[in-house]
Amino acid sequence: MAPGEVLDTAALIEWPVERIVGKMVLEAQREEVYRVAPDRLVLLDAVEVNWASPRDASIEAARKLAMLTGDIAGLSSIDLKLLALAKERGATLFTDDYRLQNLCSRAEIPWASVITEGINSIWSWEVRCTGCGIGHEIPSQTSASKGDIGDCDICGSPLRVKRRK
Ligand SMILES: [Zn+2]
Repeated sequence: MAPGEVLDTAALIEWPVERIVGKMVLEAQREEVYRVAPDRLVLLDAVEVNWASPRDASIEAARKLAMLTGDIAGLSSIDLKLLALAKERGATLFTDDYRLQNLCSRAEIPWASVITEGINSIWSWEVRCTGCGIGHEIPSQTSASKGDIGDCDICGSPLRVKRRK
C-alpha cells in the first residue's frame, strides 16, 4: 500500500475529487469545508474519504513541538491535529501553511504543497492574446491586480487566461 496522505482544508476544497478519494482528513475539517464550500461537502460525502482522528497523545506531542518552535501562536487546533495525524500514520501532509511545513520538517514528517499538487488542473488553462490570438506562456509571477497578466509582446493587446480546449 502507498504511504498515506493527510490533506489540509485547502486541498479538500481545491483538488479534483478523484485526487481526494481514500485520503486522510479530519472529522473537524467537515465544519471548515462546510463553512467555505457547502456544495463541496456534499461531493466529498459522495466519495470515499478517510475521515480520521489522531490519538490524544499524538496531539499533545504535536502541541509540544509547536511550542518549542514557536509556531503554535499561528496554528489552529485543526492544524495541530493534521500534524499529529500525519506523524501518527507516517503519512505525507499536504499543506500551504508555512508553519505546518516548518513543523513537518522539524518532526521529519514528509510534506508537500497543495498548489503544486493541484498543477494538473492548472494545466487545463492557457494564456491567449485578446487581439491576435497568439498563445503565450503562463506567467510565473503573480500580478499586482487580479486578472492583469500583461500585454501581448506581438500586438500589445491585453492577455487573458482561458480554459484550454
Ligand atoms: Zn497579440
